[in-house]
Amino acid sequence: MRRTLLYLIQLALIVAVAIWLAEQPGEVRIDWMGWRVETSAAILALLVLALVWVLAVLRGMWLWLRRAPGQFVEARRERRREEGYEALGRGLAAVAAGDASEARRLARKASNLLDEPPLTRLLSAQAAQLGGDEVEAERQFEAMRADPATEFIGLRGLLAKALRDGDRERALALAERALELKPGLPWLLKQTFSLQAEAGKWRAAMGTLADAAGRGAVTKEVARRARTAMLTARAEETDDPGEAKHLLIEAVDLSPCFAPAAVGLAHRHATAGAQRKAIKALERAWSAAPHPDLMRAWIALKVDASALDRLRWLQRLTQTHADNRESRLALAEASLDAQLWGEARRLLQDLASQPTPRVVRLMARVEREERNDIEAARAWLERQPSAEPDPLWVCSACGAQSTGWAARCGNCSAFDSLDWKPPPRIQRIERPPPMLSQAASEPVPEIPPTPAASG
Ligand SMILES: [Zn+2]
Repeated sequence: MRRTLLYLIQLALIVAVAIWLAEQPGEVRIDWMGWRVETSAAILALLVLALVWVLAVLRGMWLWLRRAPGQFVEARRERRREEGYEALGRGLAAVAAGDASEARRLARKASNLLDEPPLTRLLSAQAAQLGGDEVEAERQFEAMRADPATEFIGLRGLLAKALRDGDRERALALAERALELKPGLPWLLKQTFSLQAEAGKWRAAMGTLADAAGRGAVTKEVARRARTAMLTARAEETDDPGEAKHLLIEAVDLSPCFAPAAVGLAHRHATAGAQRKAIKALERAWSAAPHPDLMRAWIALKVDASALDRLRWLQRLTQTHADNRESRLALAEASLDAQLWGEARRLLQDLASQPTPRVVRLMARVEREERNDIEAARAWLERQPSAEPDPLWVCSACGAQSTGWAARCGNCSAFDSLDWKPPPRIQRIERPPPMLSQAASEPVPEIPPTPAASG
């Protein structure tokens, strides 16, 4: 409306000027290079106006001609970009739909049309992965890793592949670099921690774990258990007795029920001649949670004692949790060694209703040694294969079983995967754990075939 009004005003002005000029009297004569022009002033003014108009039109045409190729190229580029993004979007949809060949075709189209390697490489890598072309996928992820804008995505793709390939060393290096780029990602913190712990990089793993716990990536309980295991492992590996003791004291304080830490601490104290401290460490741990590893370490403190003295020694530890299964078994065995058959039988009575191989062997000993009843002893031993298995350290990752605890499974290297529990009833594979303190690595006492001499 305003533009129309403006236009009308302009038109009126031009018409008014033209009329005014036409009404003005006057002649113009121009002599120039042998030419003579004679006209009225009004016509000349109109001619000048017409010339200005023509020049303006020509200038406009010239500018348009100069810009035209650029505009053409820009329009074409815009069209290609639109097509490229469309191919990219459809390619991602094809990946989501699991259509590998369509995804690959669209990835190629998108990367031809778009000058955006970060986006098209990701689609190309995903399409290649979907089609099972691991080499191409890895090539794309490597290219992404080399570009600072896409380094993290590249690292993530390569990390996933390294984990699939079981190349834990490469996975660890990739995860650590990725964590430098994005230190707060919960999944990455957990993954890096797990790889560091598996590799036995305890210091780095402890730092990552603390970070993960601080950011809520792992629960406090998980962090506590993992830290206890790492402290114990570090103490087993260090050559510095002072450092080992320091680490184990922290482990025991963190998890009083974790027998391996208490066993390690008692062993360190005993080696340093601090017998009382060793005794205290084991008593404290036993009162928190009885465990046969504690019992073995306790017996190791009085290895040269007579059978009767050993029984009294065990009675001291088992004052707390006297009715516990481990207390009863250890006392029954010591009673047998001391030829106190009645006491052994009494202690085993309750356990004999649901016997484990350990109970079965002790019952057979009672029958044989007290009454020389070979038949009854054999009857007990025949129950051994069908008996509920005794607990062992069982790897929750691979199922491997071990008589001693280790921070990393001796079979699959999984970190903190060993739990003390009855193993499933399959053939037992005995593997010596890779890292054990002396006290913990003592073999389970064998049941002697003949009555032990009393001391
Ligand atoms: Zn394992």
